[in-house]
Amino acid sequence: SDNIFMLEKILKEISYPLKIDGDEIILTFSTGISLYPHDGGNAFELLKSAGMALSIATQEGRKTYQFYSADMSVTASAMLLLEKQLMKAIKNEEFILHYQPYWDITTKKMVGMEALIRWQSKDNGLVPPGKFIPVLEETGMIIEVGEWILRTAMRQVKAWQDERYPVVPVSVNMSLIQFRQKDLTEMVKKVIRECGFYPSLLTLEITESAFMQDIEFTRSVLTAMKEIGCSVSIDDFGTGYSSLAYLKRFPVDNLKIDISFIREMVKDPDSASIVVAIINMAHTLNLKTIAEGIETEEQWNFLRLLRCDMGQGFYLSKPLPAEEFEKLFSGEDK
Ligand code: C2E
Ligand code: MG
Ligand code: MG
Repeated sequence: SDNIFMLEKILKEISYPLKIDGDEIILTFSTGISLYPHDGGNAFELLKSAGMALSIATQEGRKTYQFYSADMSVTASAMLLLEKQLMKAIKNEEFILHYQPYWDITTKKMVGMEALIRWQSKDNGLVPPGKFIPVLEETGMIIEVGEWILRTAMRQVKAWQDERYPVVPVSVNMSLIQFRQKDLTEMVKKVIRECGFYPSLLTLEITESAFMQDIEFTRSVLTAMKEIGCSVSIDDFGTGYSSLAYLKRFPVDNLKIDISFIREMVKDPDSASIVVAIINMAHTLNLKTIAEGIETEEQWNFLRLLRCDMGQGFYLSKPLPAEEFEKLFSGEDK
């Protein structure tokens, strides 16, 4: 406990703002701690343990410290294995996209679809993105895979268009790291050009938390996307802390109301109020709303009464592989 006391003192001292050339600078940092002899019998072992603790502390946010524990090395080696498997997955093209439609909430006409990645792994079966996107992000592999996702989604929609299916715009998810890559705009332009794709059929989804990370940067990327002719949706809306002022000044088209509110809405008045507030605010700002994760008719009807614009969820369809998805297009135009 003496150690902790010292540590907190150091953390506190360092976190005071520094003045350098008139600018105020705030340092943030993370700490990993290992103890002799429990976490290592020599300097090398101790540093290794502390390094592992440090990497966990860093992941958990800044200004934190973390003591080493034995299961960290299990986690770390499991991560390493997954990383290797994912590198192979890229090489062997083991990723596939599923597509989930979203509909006009009043007419139930399909108005768009979202591309969602899956990993068809020889060892682990069909792996959902929550299990591997974080590793792709951490290792930077998401940049390469992200371009693949964009290209595959556009090629698919283009193919459907060429076969005279009545296609609808496709939304592609951008994770934080992808969103922050320097040449994102150039990459999107390049892939659109290569695929001969109509930019107006492409929507980029970024999460509310990524949106809020660096406001000026977000503005420049979104403006560039608008110039290309794509639409922008804010994903998982309601979980972050966007201020109204930002939404008003940014070129955004849709807010996707986070699944957690939709799930609770029918039985929890607080969630229902949040949904009402989001929809009304969105409409005041001329944005459309899409409710995520609608599973029941009751939820669907409730959202329709609240004048939500669009709905997505298992109630009408799960995400589907391309061959199954095409059965959802109305046959008439074909
Ligand atoms: P998201 O973009 O918010 O996607 C919605 C998630 O909700 C999808 O999970 C979808 O399958 C699921 N979902 C849809 N309707 C329902 C419903 O009625 N009930 C329930 N319980 N769930 C529903 P999925 O495909 O596992 O994706 C999870 C997250 O992984 C996505 O959240 C997105 O953040 C990320 N992700 C998925 N595909 C990609 C991708 O291609 N690129 C990137 N960067 N991230 C992706
Ligand atoms: Mg999404
Ligand atoms: Mg979402």
